[in-house]
Amino acid sequence: MAILGSPLSSTQACYQAIVPAGDPWIRELQRGQRVRIVDLHGNQAVDTLFYNAHNYADRYSAQDTIREQGNIYLSTGTRLISTNGNTLLTIVADTCGRHDTLGGACANESNMVRYDLDKRYMHACRNSFLKAAWSWHKELTKRDQTCNINFFMNVPVTPDGRLTFEDGISEAGKYVELLAEMDVLMVVSNCPQLNNPCNGYNPTPVEILIWDPD
Ligand SMILES: [Zn+2]
Repeated sequence: MAILGSPLSSTQACYQAIVPAGDPWIRELQRGQRVRIVDLHGNQAVDTLFYNAHNYADRYSAQDTIREQGNIYLSTGTRLISTNGNTLLTIVADTCGRHDTLGGACANESNMVRYDLDKRYMHACRNSFLKAAWSWHKELTKRDQTCNINFFMNVPVTPDGRLTFEDGISEAGKYVELLAEMDVLMVVSNCPQLNNPCNGYNPTPVEILIWDPD
């Protein structure tokens, strides 16, 4: 855990949006901009993909990020490494303390396999990513949905190496803030999952703020 607040004031942000529960969000960040995701009501997983804005084949890699920092959890100081070895963004503030990049994003198929046959038709993050991608650029397709980060999601690894989806450790108003180290495309699914505790069985809105460099 590396709890660190941000000196930035929300009144000076150049962009602000509320992402309703279960909705997607997509936007390009310019190098030097900072983006903050606020867990407005607590215990809300924010599934997020990052791409090099000039080459979508160069994208966030959980494997490279974990290996470079020697830790499976993401928090202040984590550099988000791309498949080409670039640093896409750095986490510069974090009042939650830990974010997951092992659990993946929920899908119709995984809901069906994990929970029940009739859960197949429930809204899932991979649908939201696709909706965002279609609204943005025809070159982004389902094939481009690879590693993601689950901000505010609690997926502890047990001493014997097991993964578990647990109650969240985030609370209302907790946030994570990232500095764009290059131009990046950011795609969010404000997770609609109702079958496990990642959203407290009650998905809620989050806020996204962006600041220009000084
Ligand atoms: Zn999800």
